[in-house]
Amino acid sequence: MTFPLDRVRSDFPLLSREVNGQPLAYLDSAASAQKPLQVIDREREFYLHDYAAVHRGIHTLSVEATEQMENVRKQAAAFINAASAEEIVFVKGATEAINLVANTFGRTMLSAGDRIIITEMEHHANIVPWQMLAQERGLHIDVWHLTPEGELDLDQFASLLTPQTRLLALAHVSNVLGTRNPLETIIPQAKAAGLYVLVDGAQAVMHHKVDVQALDCDFYVFSGHKLYGPTGIGILYGKAALLDQMPPWEGGGSMIKHVSLTEGTTYVKAPWRFEAGSPNTGGMMGLGAAFDYVNALGLDAIHDYEQALMNYALEAMAEIPDIHIYGPAVRSGVIAFNLGKHHAYDVGSFLDQYGIAIRTGHHCAMPLMSFYGVPAMCRASLAMYNTREEVDRLVAGLKRISLLLG
Ligand code: PMP
Repeated sequence: MTFPLDRVRSDFPLLSREVNGQPLAYLDSAASAQKPLQVIDREREFYLHDYAAVHRGIHTLSVEATEQMENVRKQAAAFINAASAEEIVFVKGATEAINLVANTFGRTMLSAGDRIIITEMEHHANIVPWQMLAQERGLHIDVWHLTPEGELDLDQFASLLTPQTRLLALAHVSNVLGTRNPLETIIPQAKAAGLYVLVDGAQAVMHHKVDVQALDCDFYVFSGHKLYGPTGIGILYGKAALLDQMPPWEGGGSMIKHVSLTEGTTYVKAPWRFEAGSPNTGGMMGLGAAFDYVNALGLDAIHDYEQALMNYALEAMAEIPDIHIYGPAVRSGVIAFNLGKHHAYDVGSFLDQYGIAIRTGHHCAMPLMSFYGVPAMCRASLAMYNTREEVDRLVAGLKRISLLLG
């Protein structure tokens, strides 16, 4: 079956606007994806007809809103094949999810002298929380290095494993290189060495199916806004046995069983224990619609379409004079590059004049920029709604820069 590209594009009204007098070519979905009408409408419907505070009310609206929220939790569990909805914690996004794990799991399960492995391709969201924890608790961070192609040096892993190593925190897919790390071989090795494993799936869940039970990771995190859902909502998956042991992070309403000024406070069970305060219910509804949208298309069909587009783009871009493309031949979602001696910002500004939106800068991955010895890169993202014509325009724009600016 051919991918229903025209129908998909017509679901995303923003894609048909103009920028600088040109049709928009939105090639920045890895930073944040556009939203289909189905997501926008679901959130709007919720506020129009179903909105009330959740968890607290006895009245019908509140009960219904709570049910809807819990249904999205079930959808999230099904989306990544978690064993139960109780393994799903609603958070703001991948960043908050990792900070939650560092602050609860990290503070109680890790102690001075313990070691954490992170990789050289991590987003700052999967570096800084561990550095903060390491500083506070006297932990050591070991870095798993890359090959020049931008893949993990699989031979190095064994040498990083020490009796003190407790946690491996790594991206499923790199937000810069598009490298899809072979978790199917890495996680069994990590488990055999007694490690906990946190996977940052922020750049993975929109490109291919994820099965957390098959992966056997302990934590898996992602953000709704990169999955065609709203901003400000994301998912932390944690194995029930671990979440049950972890103390709360933020305190407040909704996460308590009983509060006494003299006898202290007791907490409800996971996942609600980690959801203090009034949650982003509108965002949850939109996220539920995003799951539905992606499921209806099918992640296998999305993957096949995107991979064909990726191959087309890589081939066409290889022909551009003076281009340097970073990352492996097989990749998901993104193409990072530099063009001759031009700074990424100049390239990005030039393309913007032609209505082409790419990301430029360090991509929240400064250690990766250091690895390649560059201050910045350009990054074009390819999402399920992007077209060959948009790739052609990118390539033509880059050739023009080469020609005009030398
Ligand atoms: N990890 C990766 C790999 C990412 O690409 C991003 C977003 N750029 C994040 C974590 C952080 O996601 P958020 O800003 O939505 O919390």
